[in-house]
Amino acid sequence: MPIRVGIPRALLYYYYFPLWQDFLQRLGAEVVVSDLTTKGILTRGVEHCVDEACLPIKLAFGHVKNLVDKKVDAIFLPRMVSVAQGEYICPKFLGFPDMVKQNVPGLPTVIDTAINVRKKQQDIHRFTREVGVHFNKGAVKSWLAYQRSLPIHIRYTKLLEQGHLPDEAVAVLAGKKPKALAETDLKVAVIGHPYNIYDPFISMNLISRLRKSGVKVITADNLTEQMVSQGVKRLPKKLFWTLSRRMTGGALTLHDTNAVDGIIHVAAFACGPDSMTGELIERFIRRDRKVPFMNINLDEHTGEAGVVTRLEAFLDMVRWRRQAV
Ligand code: SF4
Repeated sequence: MPIRVGIPRALLYYYYFPLWQDFLQRLGAEVVVSDLTTKGILTRGVEHCVDEACLPIKLAFGHVKNLVDKKVDAIFLPRMVSVAQGEYICPKFLGFPDMVKQNVPGLPTVIDTAINVRKKQQDIHRFTREVGVHFNKGAVKSWLAYQRSLPIHIRYTKLLEQGHLPDEAVAVLAGKKPKALAETDLKVAVIGHPYNIYDPFISMNLISRLRKSGVKVITADNLTEQMVSQGVKRLPKKLFWTLSRRMTGGALTLHDTNAVDGIIHVAAFACGPDSMTGELIERFIRRDRKVPFMNINLDEHTGEAGVVTRLEAFLDMVRWRRQAV
């Protein structure tokens, strides 16, 4: 019987799910993903998490609880320290496996091997070896499994860069026909952490609402690394948080190249990095006054009606400006 390993549909799931799924399957696991976010999943997360945590961490607790209910044999919660040299992931990711182990009752085995390539890329060897131990696989087999999974990650990243959303890219990798991307000349950038903008429940269907209003949505993940690097060159200092760097670089590139008609920044309440990068993006964009900018703050109490009203007003302004210039 294969070991059933759960992956929470939260946090860096939106960047690494195809890679993690393929790697774990090659090691012999049966992968189980937590359900789509619902009010119930969020409520359970809030119940088990400390009050001070940000919304995405609370939600991730709810997804872990959902996997516990599915009676998986193990939960894959890699300790995300750094995924790029010289950069870090937010410290809340680092402590997340410990927070879960302290606060969620009835947990199965937690695979919480660290991913930390800040100093050297080769650290990924250690990661694969330590994960492999859970499946009785040696260092060589585990490393080969990981190497053979990398092409799927490259294909996934390419699909995102072609304009697909993570769930659409996952569907294409699973053999579905790629969704035709709507051609419209009204373009709006949605800038935010992947777990905020791509989770339909948490974002209150922001992206599909925009698409239904005839808007082409562009996110920082639809840009190549080269385009992101171009944007961050404007900053006086290097941003060492990987996700914040991508968001800021993406927003500034889209703005500077006149690639969008408006920019929406989505931030999570109680997020330290968001409060800084949101401010940075807003200052640069408002200084040039080229395109309308809107900030949306999400927490577990954010009302949908308020967000919808603001979105409609924002789109009216974007359209009006386009006609005026
Ligand atoms: S970056 Fe912000 S939203 Fe993401 S885990 Fe850290 S504090 Fe939470």
